[in-house]
Amino acid sequence: MASITILLDKCTGCMLCVKACPFGAIHMANKKAVIDMAKCTLCGACVEACKFSAIEIRRDAGPKKDLTAYKDIWVFCEQKKGAIQSISFELLGEGRKLADKLGVKLCAVILGSGIDDAAAELASRGADKIYMVDHPALKSYQDDPYTEVLVRLAEEYKPEAILCGATTIGRSLVSRVAIKIDAGLTADCTELDIDLKERLLLQTRPAFGGNIMATIVTPNHRPQMATVRHKVMKEAEIDATRKAEVIKKTYPGEVFNSRTKLLNIVEEIGETVNLSEADIIISGGRGMGKEGFALVNELAKVLGGAVGASRSAVDADWIPYSHQVGQTGKTVVPKLYIACGISGQIQHLIGMQSSKVIVAINKDPDAPIFKIATYGIVGDATEILPALTRAFRLVLNK
Ligand SMILES: Cc1cc2nc3c(=O)[nH]c(=O)nc-3n(C[C@H](O)[C@H](O)[C@H](O)COP(=O)(O)OP(=O)(O)OC[C@H]3O[C@@H](n4cnc5c(N)ncnc54)[C@H](O)[C@@H]3O)c2cc1C
Ligand code: SF4
Ligand code: SF4
Repeated sequence: MASITILLDKCTGCMLCVKACPFGAIHMANKKAVIDMAKCTLCGACVEACKFSAIEIRRDAGPKKDLTAYKDIWVFCEQKKGAIQSISFELLGEGRKLADKLGVKLCAVILGSGIDDAAAELASRGADKIYMVDHPALKSYQDDPYTEVLVRLAEEYKPEAILCGATTIGRSLVSRVAIKIDAGLTADCTELDIDLKERLLLQTRPAFGGNIMATIVTPNHRPQMATVRHKVMKEAEIDATRKAEVIKKTYPGEVFNSRTKLLNIVEEIGETVNLSEADIIISGGRGMGKEGFALVNELAKVLGGAVGASRSAVDADWIPYSHQVGQTGKTVVPKLYIACGISGQIQHLIGMQSSKVIVAINKDPDAPIFKIATYGIVGDATEILPALTRAFRLVLNK
C-alpha cells in the first residue's frame, strides 16, 4: 500500500502543488494544502512540485522477489500469417547486444500455428534459444491465449527481461502479461542499455510530450519488460550458419481458451504502402483541404511512400483513421517525413518527431512544426506539392 501526507509544519501555502496536480486532487484550507484521497492517484507530481519538501509519498515495494532466479533476455517475435515481422529482427539485434553485455542467452519466443520454419530464421538472426508454442488457436493473435501462454513460459523459465514491439499486438499483449506476472513494464522505448553494476535494464523513452528523455529502471521486479518503437533499432544481421536450441512447449487445451472469437481478418484495401513500415511518408493536415489530399497522394506515389495525416484531416473525413499519425494514431520513424499543411501540435509531433529528415510545408512562418523540421518551406502547400511532384517525376524518370 502507498500513502501520501502533507507535512503541515513545512507547508507554506504556496499552492504550487495545486497547480501541479493533474487530477484536481488538492485544495487549500486554512492556507495549508489538503489532498482529496478520492481523486488522488498517487502520481507524485505534487511531490516534485513542492519546493518545501512538504509532501511525502510512502510506497510499499511489497515482498522482494528472488531476482537471481531470473536470467536471459527474451524477445517476443510477432508473426503474421507465419511471416516473422521486421520489428522482431530489430529487437533481436538489440537483444543480442544486451545479452552479450550481461553474459546471458538471447531467447526468441514465437507463438503461432505451423511455425516450424521460423526456428531457422530466428537462429540466423542471433537467437541462442527459441521457445516455440504451435497450436491452431495461436494462428492469429488473440489476447487471451497469447497472454496465457507467455505468462506460463515466463513463470517457468524466468527471463531477466522481455522485449516486445510497441505495435498494436505488442502493446496489447505485454501489458496483460505484466499485470499477471507482477512485472514492471516501460512502454514505447527508443533506447535500451544495461547498468552492469546493478544488472538493470535501462529503458529510455520520450516523456512529457517528447520534451525530455526518461530512463526507467525496474529494480524490484522481474522480468523487466519493455515495448520498443518500430524502426529505431537496427535489424540483426543474418548469419545462416547459426544454430539455436529449440524448446517446443505444449499446454493443455484450456490454456488456449479465449473469451473472444476471431471471426475474420479484413485487410485494408487501397493502402499502397504500410504507414508503420514506410521509409517515406507524405502527411497532410487541415491546411491541405479535402481536395488537396489528391496532391499528397500524388507525391507519395511518385516517391513510393505512404500517406499520413493529422487528426484534423481524419476528423474531417478526408482520409481514414488508419493513416493518422500521432498520440492517438500511429508512431512512425521514416527516413523522410514531409508534413504538408500541418501546424505541429504536440499530439501530432509525438508520432513523428523521431523521423530522420522532416520537411515542413506551411504558409505560416511561425507554425510550431518548423521548430522540429530539418527543412522548412514557407508557402502554399497546394502550389508547392505539384511543383515537387513534377520535379521528382523528372529526376526519378517516372
Ligand atoms: C487527446 C488528444 C489526442 C490527439 N491526438 C492526435 C494525433 O494522434 N494526431 C494528430 O495529428 N493530432 C492529434 N490531436 C489533435 C492536435 O491537437 C491538433 O489539433 C491537430 O494535430 C491539428 O491538425 P493540423 O495541424 O492538421 O491542423 P491545424 O492545427 O488547424 O493546422 C493547419 C495548418 O495548416 C497551415 N495551412 C493552412 N493552409 C495552408 C496552405 N494552403 N499551405 C500550407 N499550409 C497551410 C496553417 O498555417 C496551420 O499551421 C489530438 C488532440 C488531443 C486533445
Ligand atoms: S507546494 Fe508544498 S508548500 Fe506549497 S502548498 Fe503545496 S504542500 Fe504546501
Ligand atoms: S499524488 Fe498526484 S494525484 Fe495525488 S495529490 Fe499529488 S499530484 Fe495530485
